[in-house]
Amino acid sequence: MTETQFTPRVFSGIQPSGNLHLGNYLGALKRFVDMQQPDMETIYCMVDLHAITVWQDPKELAHSTRELCAGFIAAGLDPEKSILFNQSQVPEHAQLAWIFNCVARMGWMQRMTQWKDKAGKNQQNASLGLFAYPSLMAADILTYHATHVPVGDDQKQHLELTRDIAIKFNHDYGVDFFPITEPVIEGAATRVMSLRDGSKKMSKSDPSDMSRINMTDDADTIAKKIRKAKTDPEALPSELDGLDERPEARNLVNIYAALSDQTAEQVLAEVGGKQFGEFKPMLAELAVSKLAPISSEMARLMGEEAEIDQILAKGAEKARAIAAPILQQTYEIVGMVGAKQG
Ligand code: ATP
Ligand code: MG
Repeated sequence: MTETQFTPRVFSGIQPSGNLHLGNYLGALKRFVDMQQPDMETIYCMVDLHAITVWQDPKELAHSTRELCAGFIAAGLDPEKSILFNQSQVPEHAQLAWIFNCVARMGWMQRMTQWKDKAGKNQQNASLGLFAYPSLMAADILTYHATHVPVGDDQKQHLELTRDIAIKFNHDYGVDFFPITEPVIEGAATRVMSLRDGSKKMSKSDPSDMSRINMTDDADTIAKKIRKAKTDPEALPSELDGLDERPEARNLVNIYAALSDQTAEQVLAEVGGKQFGEFKPMLAELAVSKLAPISSEMARLMGEEAEIDQILAKGAEKARAIAAPILQQTYEIVGMVGAKQG
């Protein structure tokens, strides 16, 4: 079989489950903007179907979807250059996910650490959707034949599963139809940790608001959260290996590096020897200077609800134009009668 050449195409998504935070920004959104290049097709999705795998109040879900769209645009995504839409409006995602539910194996899904973390001890009471989440995520990506997926480090395992699903589908049906997607996990902050606990990632769903910096936090709140962030009593080292076994210190250095577009090594060369009493205000000032313009633009856009809805509707139309023929071909490969031939 000859190897199909797939056109480079970027896809990624964020859940509209509220509390868009610094980890989402540095690990995902800022990277989405970097990949918005003239020679690259970029598709970015507000994954509302993923959000409802845990309970969402309907009014809040609608608000969070629009707010996330405002965040995408405020961070630098341009609806003329990237396709921006919400997942539920392109039914091909859910349709392809069903096919993938029949490709993926129970054992693969049971190994997913996100499932284990989110379902916790109460798996019997978790939604079936939460368990099937990675199969829908594979469909999100593969219904566009996306080749590159920028995500934070926590999504690495789901992207490996996406590759496994593509490989098994291609193998089972004897085709070379789905691309084997490349995860793009890059930058100084691929895993921003909680400000309260250096062993836990910063999350929308963390019950403690002090654990994260929200993209909607004002300057005082950002400064307060950084001031109160857990650290250790040592001064900052001048070299990277001095951060070994110091997860909280490493986290703040990584955040500083990602916000200032430097490597952690460069940051340490500048701040090595400083105490946190001196470093934290520097970090707070940097964070406010980078985040304040985004949050004020988000707030402005939230006053233009009709405009946001129109951007989403147009984006869904453009997305469907790509997804529908790929789903159609999938149905033909699988042997579903009624599929339009050729
Ligand atoms: P939840 O806790 O509800 O799962 P979340 O904060 O993990 O929310 P998602 O919508 O699941 O947010 O993830 C959106 C994107 O942000 C993904 O690419 C994910 O890898 C990235 N991301 C999430 N948290 C972090 C983090 N702490 N550091 C870096 N990237 C992150
Ligand atoms: Mg998540």
